Amino acid sequence: MPLSNAVCVVQIGDIEVTIERKRVKNVNMRMREPGKAHVSVPLGMSLAQAEVFVREHADWLVAHAAKLAEREPTRPTSWQTGEVVRLWGDALTLRVEESDVRSYAVVDKDLVVHVLPGDGKEMVEALVEQLYRVQMTERLKTLLPMCELRVGKQATSVTLRRMTTRWGSCTPSTGRIRLNVALAELSPDCLEMVLIHELCHLHEKNHGPRFQALMDLHCPGWRATQRTLDARMPG
Ligand SMILES: [Zn+2]
Repeated sequence: MPLSNAVCVVQIGDIEVTIERKRVKNVNMRMREPGKAHVSVPLGMSLAQAEVFVREHADWLVAHAAKLAEREPTRPTSWQTGEVVRLWGDALTLRVEESDVRSYAVVDKDLVVHVLPGDGKEMVEALVEQLYRVQMTERLKTLLPMCELRVGKQATSVTLRRMTTRWGSCTPSTGRIRLNVALAELSPDCLEMVLIHELCHLHEKNHGPRFQALMDLHCPGWRATQRTLDARMPG
């Protein structure tokens, strides 16, 4: 859709691409949020030519949008109907309804939370947190023994905690492992990798070459998962 001879908007899938002819030497594509891209092209290029260029780069745009969406904040801020809640990497739409009993359930792509009249957003958040804990506990029933078998070490306890600076931790001297409840928001590979990471600490305290060799052995592909986790919680 040409807005003038200088600017037009092209739709690539879900992505709205604004093309602008301006005094630049090279074509420049930018995307700061998943659904919107901006492309500046030199004045020597027509909008029609620019549109062809953008369509030729559709794969890049779609891949980049997916990458940005991965980094989107995972938690709602006001815990109201319509907000996105993630469960095992899926985006669910939060649906808050009043009822005479508090409960939660995943219904298709919705996370339905029933609250009592007068309950605030803290109650919605607490119920979703409870769902995460229940889901993680359930998954760990089979995942923990499987990972312990693979690594050849057993944890004395695995506790779930909401943490803001790490995905998991381990005290090798006691064999206790703590996992971040936020792992229930990400794809199941992340929980598995973090669990194996912490179990490997029962062999090796630090993250040196021996530790990395253990990870390569017990969790091939851990480096890619690690990058995903680092992108979400830098530092
Ligand atoms: Zn570690």
